[in-house]
Amino acid sequence: MTLRKQVVLVPARATFFTAVCIECADLDAAAGYSGSTFAGRLDLDLDHAMFLCRRGHSVRVERAAAARADTAA
Ligand SMILES: [Zn+2]
Repeated sequence: MTLRKQVVLVPARATFFTAVCIECADLDAAAGYSGSTFAGRLDLDLDHAMFLCRRGHSVRVERAAAARADTAA
């Protein structure tokens, strides 16, 4: 089973995000229901992190560029 690389961008100043796991989206589409979103938290001092969706697919979350410098005071 080859998983696609997933990258989700969150806004520069967001700490919480909701993302769609495309692996789950495919599974859910096949099963006829929708539960492919998951939520997470990316603290402001982090510019990227790995998250697992509720089924355990890995999703890389990256903070959108900009605005890191002016929050690091
Ligand atoms: Zn998933």
